Amino acid sequence: MKGYYDLHIHTAASPCGDELMSPHNIVNMAKLNGLDIIAITDHQTSCNVQAVQSVGAQNGLLVIPGIEIECIEEFHLIALLPSCEAAHEIEADVRKNMLKVKNKPEVFGHQYCFDDQSEVIDELEDFLLVATCQTAYDITKKVLAMGGVIYPAHIDRASYSIISQLGVLPEKPFFTALEISKTAHLVQYRQQYHEHHIIQSSDAHYLQDINKRRQFIELPEVSIEALFSWFKQLV
Ligand SMILES: [Zn+2]
Ligand SMILES: [Zn+2]
Repeated sequence: MKGYYDLHIHTAASPCGDELMSPHNIVNMAKLNGLDIIAITDHQTSCNVQAVQSVGAQNGLLVIPGIEIECIEEFHLIALLPSCEAAHEIEADVRKNMLKVKNKPEVFGHQYCFDDQSEVIDELEDFLLVATCQTAYDITKKVLAMGGVIYPAHIDRASYSIISQLGVLPEKPFFTALEISKTAHLVQYRQQYHEHHIIQSSDAHYLQDINKRRQFIELPEVSIEALFSWFKQLV
């Protein structure tokens, strides 16, 4: 079956995420768009994965706990974890290795954490758009050891992408997947990087940017196990 997905969505916990990016709004928009699977991937935090997963479960939408990590090499990685607890553990590791800078909500935006009623229950004080001092190598090893999936984000972009920072990709099979932006040419990237899975997600910071029912993965069923085992297969 085809599992329609968007595996890169920000909530209002990301300073750059719109304040309307609440658990209910995200789940409702994903459902309206006909998606089967989404991942919540805020910058350096997983504070909203549980709330969105809970709302998703009530509405027949699979929500994968994730986090978008900026490593010391200053590119972004998408980490998807098998549980909210595992995502929180990765977050704790990332955050304890970050320079502490206070957010200025009036300049950068609020960093809201929600409960499963989409009520704001907390606001993160440490600014999240700061790189962790961990290397991509160390982060990747840890995520894989926890049964997760990890791959470079938006590789077609001129900033914060592995190619803009390093110029090349590491040898396969270090990463089995690569993410491209919504505007990138999927067929072209599939041809160019034919030894990798190519994921095309929205990197939505606003509700209207969430993927429509277009990008899909062929899966035996819509489940986290099926999705993760697909990622682990080499193309
Ligand atoms: Zn990014
Ligand atoms: Zn992002």
